[in-house]
Amino acid sequence: MAKNVKNEKRCTFCGRSESEVPVLLQGSNGCICSDCIEMGYDYLKDYGLVAAKGGKSRKGTSNAGSKVMTPKEIHAELDKYIIGQDRAKKLLAVAVYNHYKRLEANLDSEQKADVDNLEIDKSNILMVGPTGSGKTLIARTIAKMLDVPFTIVDATVLTEAGYVGEDVESLLSRLLQECDYDQERAERGIVFIDEIDKITRKSDNPSITRDVGGEGVQQGLLKLLEGSIVNVPPKGGRKHPEQEFVHMNTQNILFICGGAFEGIERKIAQRLNTQVIGFTAKNNVVDKDNLLKYVNAQDLRAYGLIPEIIGRLPIVTYLDHLDRDALRRILTEPKNAIIKQYKKMFELDGKVLEIDDDVLDLIVDTAIEKKLGARGLRSICEQIMNEAMYEAPSSRKKTWHLTKEYAQQFIN
Ligand code: ADP
Repeated sequence: MAKNVKNEKRCTFCGRSESEVPVLLQGSNGCICSDCIEMGYDYLKDYGLVAAKGGKSRKGTSNAGSKVMTPKEIHAELDKYIIGQDRAKKLLAVAVYNHYKRLEANLDSEQKADVDNLEIDKSNILMVGPTGSGKTLIARTIAKMLDVPFTIVDATVLTEAGYVGEDVESLLSRLLQECDYDQERAERGIVFIDEIDKITRKSDNPSITRDVGGEGVQQGLLKLLEGSIVNVPPKGGRKHPEQEFVHMNTQNILFICGGAFEGIERKIAQRLNTQVIGFTAKNNVVDKDNLLKYVNAQDLRAYGLIPEIIGRLPIVTYLDHLDRDALRRILTEPKNAIIKQYKKMFELDGKVLEIDDDVLDLIVDTAIEKKLGARGLRSICEQIMNEAMYEAPSSRKKTWHLTKEYAQQFIN
């Protein structure tokens, strides 16, 4: 049938005409169809010539499904969900923007065979801040915003290979699982490693007992952070010899580490005391109540992170302790604030929930008193709301008004 059509373009490789193939690309001296391109690609893959790029096609290697937002856009989006923590938000917005920009630039220079062939290195991030100050929330919000696979791993479950616990590679298994084993997407995802401060070196002396949960794990993590091809057990857990591995390239995975680094203020204070003369903070006045904002690589090293890991986490930021005002705002202001959620629940039943301001103050005061921080807000709310949520669906009462006196009886 196609033979009857005169002058129809044909694939120079398989000879089929334009109407017989999905797509036909024209070059200066001939044409190639998409099927032949695919075959050529498989051929190159078999010879390992494209494997390291981790992509199946140009489409696959682009930041599929996600758009790179500007730092200001990222910051504005973070503002919708996270109260305060401005310094961290700004730093992360720039870091994340640069990371995905870098992926694009490296891809472009690969494709255009740029003469300068400048590869931009990646910058992983370390967030230091008290527990419940929003570290995980920031990382999770960024991943959601960029539509990239995201996983959270607790560093404390990791141990050095051969010991009880999980191999460090298992954190990549989770990332793979997170995106249904779409390796290309996983290789551009974000991994949040929580409690990184719990795998610090136990002592400065090389010990007779092995430090399997500390320095050994840091050494293992190093391999992932610096960007290399790692053998990942697709189902996670322990590696064993008969297992099949996925060879994952970690070069474009952004690692965000977080930790409370309890007591690091002492190391910071020590350092500041010994270098007062050279210290250049504003008017040389150290904000003693908020020493965390001066945290640097030297303090992290003194705390027990090995220098190689610190080198792989060039962006260090801190999160503030959440004060009363911040906790109060967390209750009502974020896009998915707890109180908004309860009101929505009532609304779904055709009811109206009204909460007095002093109930909110009571919730915040209780969280502070019990030292529960932001994490405790929800459980206190649950205690207060439970009775009303139990009664409301089967009641004719339309409006539910919660007063401080009412709320107080549920707080113990
Ligand atoms: P971290 O990782 O620092 O220990 P999380 O991010 O897990 O803390 O915070 C715990 C919970 O507390 C979050 O899910 C969120 O509901 C609330 N929260 C903490 N910090 C903030 C914040 N700055 N803004 C809004 N909510 C917050």
